[in-house]
Amino acid sequence: MIPGPIEFEPDVLQAMSMATTSHVAPDFIEVFGNSLELMREVWKAPKGQPFIVAGTGTLAMDMAITNLIEPADNVLVISSGYFGKRFQDILSRYGANTTILEAPVGEVVPIEDIEKALKNKPYKALTMTHVDTSTGVLIDPKPIAKLAKKYNVLSILDGVCSVAGETLQQEEWGIDVVLTASQKAVGVPPGLALLMASEKAIQVWQNRKTPVCNYYADWSNWLPIMKAYEARKPSYFGTPAVNLVVALETSLKIICNEGIDKRVKRHQKLASAFRKAIAALHLEILPKSNNIAANTLTAVFYPKGIDGTALRSKIASSNVIIAGGLLSEIKNDYFRIGHMGSVSVNDLLAVLGALERALIELEYPIANGESLQVFLQEL
Ligand SMILES: *Cc1c(COP(=O)(O)O)cnc(C)c1O
Repeated sequence: MIPGPIEFEPDVLQAMSMATTSHVAPDFIEVFGNSLELMREVWKAPKGQPFIVAGTGTLAMDMAITNLIEPADNVLVISSGYFGKRFQDILSRYGANTTILEAPVGEVVPIEDIEKALKNKPYKALTMTHVDTSTGVLIDPKPIAKLAKKYNVLSILDGVCSVAGETLQQEEWGIDVVLTASQKAVGVPPGLALLMASEKAIQVWQNRKTPVCNYYADWSNWLPIMKAYEARKPSYFGTPAVNLVVALETSLKIICNEGIDKRVKRHQKLASAFRKAIAALHLEILPKSNNIAANTLTAVFYPKGIDGTALRSKIASSNVIIAGGLLSEIKNDYFRIGHMGSVSVNDLLAVLGALERALIELEYPIANGESLQVFLQEL
C-alpha cells in the first residue's frame, strides 16, 4: 500500500512474463502503436504526441525540461512539496533561471500569487505537480494552465502520482506537457517514462536555437520512433523495454475498459471514505483541507506520543506495507498510504484494520472497529 510501485493486476504481471520478442516484431509493433493510441485516451489529449521511453518518472521530467528549455530561459516552479523542488534541480542543471513559489507544507500556492509572478516577468514555462507524493496535496491544474495560456507560457505538469487516478483533461485544459511513470496509477512495474506533448510544445521544441544537451532524452531521437510505431513500421533508436511495453498495453486496456472517468470516481470515492475513517481515529492528514487532498494517496501525521517506527513495524506485522514520510523537514512525523490503480474496498479495510490494531497495541485510545465502521458507512 505504498504510493508506488503499487500492486499490479495479475494480467499485467502475466504480460511481463511473455517471451521477449524483437522490438521490430510485427506483434510488438502493434502493441507499441496501440499503447501510444490508448495513452491519448487516458490523458484526454486526442492531438497530443505521446512518448514511451525506458526510464523512470524523473526521466520524463528531465525529458520535458531538456527539450523545451534553453539556457537562460525563465521558468516558474510551482511547488507543493519534494517533487515540485525536483523540477528546480533539473532546470538549474540545464542553465534555466528559476523562480520558485513554494506552498507551506500541506497547502497549495494561491492562484493570485501565480498570476502576480507571471505579470512580473516574462517566463518561457511553468512547472507544477498535480499530486505531490511527499505531502498528498492535490492542486487544480486547470486555472493554472489557463493563466499560462494568458501569459503565453508553456505549462508542464508532473502527473506521476495522478495520471489514471485523478481528473485530467490535458487538451481541454490546455496543458503542454503531462508526464508520468509506469509504476504509479498507470499500474505497470517500474521502468517506463510516459509523456504527452501538445502541438505547441512540439513547435517550441522545433524552434529552439540551441541543441538539446541531453542525448538520450532528445526528442529528435525519439519522435521518429514514436511516429514509426504509430504508423506500424519498424524503427530503432534505443531498444525499448519490450516486456514493460506489453504490460503497459495490458494495463491501458484495463484502464480504458473500466473507463477513465469511472476509474477516477472510484479513486475519489475510496479516498474520501478513507479520509473520513482516518479522521474517526482522531488522526490528522497533511493537506490542510479535504478539497486539496489527493485521491491517489493519503499522508497522515502520527498521533502525539506514538513512535512512528514502532507503528509502522506493527502494521507491517499484519502484512500491510505502508510508506514513511518523504519531506525532509517532517520526514519522521508522518506516514503515507497509497490507494491507486487496482485498489479495492478490501485493501483499505485491511489497512484500517492493521492500523487500528497497531494503535491499540501502542495504547492509543480508540475503540476497536471505529474507523472500519465509518469507512463502510461512507461507502
Ligand atoms: C514518484 C514520483 C516522481 C518520480 O518518479 P520516479 O519514477 O521515482 O523517478 C516524480 N513526481 C511525482 C509526483 C512522483 O510521485
